[in-house]
Amino acid sequence: MRARMERENEIVVVGAGAAGLWAAWRAAELGRRVLLVEKTPRAGTKILASGGTHCNLTTTLDARAAAELFGPDGARFLAPAFRALPPALVREQFHALGVETVEAPLEKIFPKSGRARDVRDALERAARERGVEFVFDASVARVVPRGARAAHAVTSSSAPSNAPAHGPATAAKAATISSSSASAEGWRVELADGTALDAERVVLAPGGRSYAKSGTTGDGYAWLAELDLSVIEPAPALVPLESDAPWVHALAGIALPDVEAKLVDAEGRAHGRRRRPVLFTHKGVSGPGAMDVSAPVGRAEVLARRRGQRCPPFQLLVDLAPDLDREALRALLIEGASRPGAPSLARVLPFDVPKRVLERVALQAKLPAGELRLNGLDKARRHALVEALKAFALPISGTTGFDHAEVTAGGLALSHLDKGTMEVKGRPGLFVCGELLDLQGPIGGLNFQAAFATAELAARALAR
Ligand SMILES: Cc1cc2nc3c(=O)[nH]c(=O)nc-3n(C[C@H](O)[C@H](O)[C@H](O)COP(=O)(O)OP(=O)(O)OC[C@H]3O[C@@H](n4cnc5c(N)ncnc54)[C@H](O)[C@@H]3O)c2cc1C
Repeated sequence: MRARMERENEIVVVGAGAAGLWAAWRAAELGRRVLLVEKTPRAGTKILASGGTHCNLTTTLDARAAAELFGPDGARFLAPAFRALPPALVREQFHALGVETVEAPLEKIFPKSGRARDVRDALERAARERGVEFVFDASVARVVPRGARAAHAVTSSSAPSNAPAHGPATAAKAATISSSSASAEGWRVELADGTALDAERVVLAPGGRSYAKSGTTGDGYAWLAELDLSVIEPAPALVPLESDAPWVHALAGIALPDVEAKLVDAEGRAHGRRRRPVLFTHKGVSGPGAMDVSAPVGRAEVLARRRGQRCPPFQLLVDLAPDLDREALRALLIEGASRPGAPSLARVLPFDVPKRVLERVALQAKLPAGELRLNGLDKARRHALVEALKAFALPISGTTGFDHAEVTAGGLALSHLDKGTMEVKGRPGLFVCGELLDLQGPIGGLNFQAAFATAELAARALAR
């Protein structure tokens, strides 16, 4: 370590996760000398845990469709990155590294072996073969411009001057380094043990603050705040939702494989919808349908906690018949009711819904308790039943928190970055990629895609 300390590093990459490994490997492949600093004893812990240890490494979608899943701002920001490294090229790169891939339902790509370890190992091997030096058990504490340090240009500030309107910076009382101190003299990466690593250029890829046991404890936000860069408040995303309704808990274990979940707030405003499976748990709801729309609940919860309040209520409206519009469903119920005998709702519906869920649907429609027979339904009750099937309402009271979140929403405000290089504007030589950015895509290989593609742009810029 000391030898490295004393020499000038060309590039220091912070964080050996998906983005850091990719950036280090590709920058080295493109001719740069790279030191990769990782806080934990191994690389890519989150890769190993990903996709239920199978690693959904990218998507079958094309670059544009994949970027659109990050919302309008995310899509605009990611367009150059996904053009440079579209999902198909991620697959090709892994094939070149010896990791064959296969397609899976819901637009997913996995390693053919089904082993996340193969993905992590391939990236680590590629980086080592290209000469990247790894330093493990090295926790970065600060990242400062060397000019600033030499000039002692650290000033105190109560809040970053450019804090965004919709979320204050994380380290509100952090000391900040004036932007005039950013210089061409390079960067100093200070480790928790006091070691200082000097580098011409630095890539920050320490991830977010979800799933802290994998090493991501949100350290990067404080470094950014200290550099007077705006951080959109981090919040758990792709996270299971909690409900305080005991009847929801009682459905634990039931899966709804093909439904559309829509998140609405107490005023009925929609905050996202996604057609994906939903799963009842003993705390509320999980599964991609619920997790993909969870970020607004996470944000509201973080804000409420800061004020010492409870998370405001939301509802997850589950469309149990996403292929049928209300008219078609109504016609189906009328036709079913006219059949001989007393057909039950379950027999009339052309898709499976577990009986216990249908009982709750009937209750929501205010049908006589547990009544699932269709004959004798008047128009008002039929209307209520159609509504309950199209918007089965689950009360939501919060999330299961950062420890269970697959990603962190929020992070470095995208306006700070040159989206063609991932270099921070006004901070020459400072690059940020991966989950530390204010980017968040749904489940389906999109978040690795974003980590790899932003890292690719940084690596190409470093090679120029
Ligand atoms: C359980 C789970 C399953 C997931 N499955 C998928 C999936 O199948 N497909 C998908 O696309 N996405 C998945 N994700 C999300 C995906 O893992 C992340 O979006 C992605 O890993 C982000 O990459 P990153 O490099 O930015 O951060 P990370 O991969 O989190 O890496 C950050 C690295 O930086 C290190 N670090 C942190 N602080 C410091 C410090 N102070 N000093 C030095 N090093 C530091 C960390 O130890 C870590 O190794 C999953 C996430 C979880 C938690």
